[in-house]
Amino acid sequence: MLIVQKYGGTSVGSFDRIRNVANRVKALRDEGHDVAVVVSAMGGVTDQLIGMADQLCSNPPAREMDVLLSTGEQQSIALVTMALHAVGVDAVSVTGRQAGMTTSGSHTRARIHKIDSSLSRRYLSEGKVVIAAGFQGVNEEGLIQTLGRGGSDLSAIAFASSVGADLCQILTDVDGVYSADPRVVPEARKLPEISYDELLELASVGTKVMQSRSVEFAKKYDVKFEVCSSLNNNPGTIVTEEHEAMEAAVIRGVSIERSQARVTITGIPDEPGMSAQILSALGDDEINIDMIVSNIAHDGYARHSFTMHTNDLGRAQASLKPVLANLGPEAKLETEAAIAKLSVVGIGMRSHSGVAAQMFKALGQAVINIGMISTSEIKISITVDETNIEDAARVVHGAFGLDSAPTEP
Ligand code: ADP
Ligand code: ASP
Ligand code: MG
Repeated sequence: MLIVQKYGGTSVGSFDRIRNVANRVKALRDEGHDVAVVVSAMGGVTDQLIGMADQLCSNPPAREMDVLLSTGEQQSIALVTMALHAVGVDAVSVTGRQAGMTTSGSHTRARIHKIDSSLSRRYLSEGKVVIAAGFQGVNEEGLIQTLGRGGSDLSAIAFASSVGADLCQILTDVDGVYSADPRVVPEARKLPEISYDELLELASVGTKVMQSRSVEFAKKYDVKFEVCSSLNNNPGTIVTEEHEAMEAAVIRGVSIERSQARVTITGIPDEPGMSAQILSALGDDEINIDMIVSNIAHDGYARHSFTMHTNDLGRAQASLKPVLANLGPEAKLETEAAIAKLSVVGIGMRSHSGVAAQMFKALGQAVINIGMISTSEIKISITVDETNIEDAARVVHGAFGLDSAPTEP
C-alpha cells in the first residue's frame, strides 16, 4: 500500500516529536508499505518568521514573505529525513519545487495549479521514503509561493492525489475531527466520519483542524482521507462522500471564529447599483467580507451590515470613505469590533426544520444576545459579543445533543 502522511507543526515541534515521526514512518515501512510524508514547519516557526519580517518592514513585500516563510518547511523536511536515517530508513527530502508543485495566483495565498510528482514517484520506486515540504510551491515564473496559513494540508491532499496514494492520513495533535474544538467545548465528541461538505463548511467558518481549500480539493479529486493523532493510534475521523445514514444527525458540528468586526452603512439611497458600489470598493481592495445582512429600505433609505476580520477593519473604513461621499448626505458608517461568529453545520439540516429556532431558543435561555444571522443549506451562523462566544458554543453544542456521555468518575 502507498500511504501519504501529513504531520503538522505540533507533530514536528521538537526533536522528540521528530523522532516520534521517524519511528511511526519506520513502523509503516516495516509493515511493508511505501510511504511519502508531507511536513509543516516546526510549531511556531512560521509565526516567528512573520515576526522577524514585521521587525524590519511594516508592509513586507509578499514575494519576499514567500521566500522567508518557505524556509520553515525546508528546515523540517531535512530534519525529519535525518531522523529517519538515524533509525535506518532510507529517506530523501523534496522541496515544493522538487515535488513538482506548480502554483499560481498571489504570493502568500497561492493556489496549486498542477503537480508533476515524477521525481517523488521515482524515489518511491527505488524504495525510498519521500519527505516533501508542505505549504510551498513554485509558480510558472520560477518564484517561490506559499499556499496560505495551514496550507500544508492542501499540499498533502494534492500530493496524495498526484502519487495515487491508497491512503492519506492527516496526523495532528487531536485524534480526529470533533463536534467542536475540544479546547473550547470539553464535552466535544470525536466524529467517526464526516462528509466533505460538512468539513468544508466547518473549516470555512473557523474549524482549523483542516484548511478549507484542502477539503475542497479532496472533494473535487475524490481523495478519501482520515484525520488522526500523531501521538497515539486511536481510530481517527474518516472524511468521505456523504451517505444516507449521515442525515440522521441534524448537526454535525459547532464552530467559532473570533476577532470579527461588523460594519454597518445606513442612509443608502434605495436605488439600483448602490450595493454594487459598496461591495466593489471592498473587493477592489481585496477585503474579504463574510456575513451580509441588508434591510428593506425604509423612508427611501436602506442599510447594509457585513462582517470581516478585525484586522481588515481599518482598510475597510479607508476603502469605503469615498463610496460614502458618493452615496449622498444621509449615508453613515458605524463599526463594531469585538464580536465573534458561531456556526452550526450539518447535512441533516436539509431534511429537518426548526433548527434555527432550536439554536436561538437555547441562546435565549442562556441570556446570550444574537447579533447578525445568516444561513445556507447546511449551516446557520450568528454573531455574538466576543466575550460570550465560548459560552454560546457550549450552550448550542449541548442543545443539539452533541455533548459526549458523562464518563464515570
Ligand atoms: P496542525 O499543526 O497539525 O496542522 P492545527 O493546529 O492546524 O494542527 O489543527 C489542530 C487543532 O485544531 C487542534 O489542536 C484543535 O484545537 C483545533 N480544532 C478546532 N476545531 C476542531 C474540531 N472541531 N475538531 C478537532 N480539532 C479542532
Ligand atoms: N507552516 C504553515 C503555517 O503555519 C503551513 C502549515 O503549517 O500548514 O501556516
Ligand atoms: Mg493545520
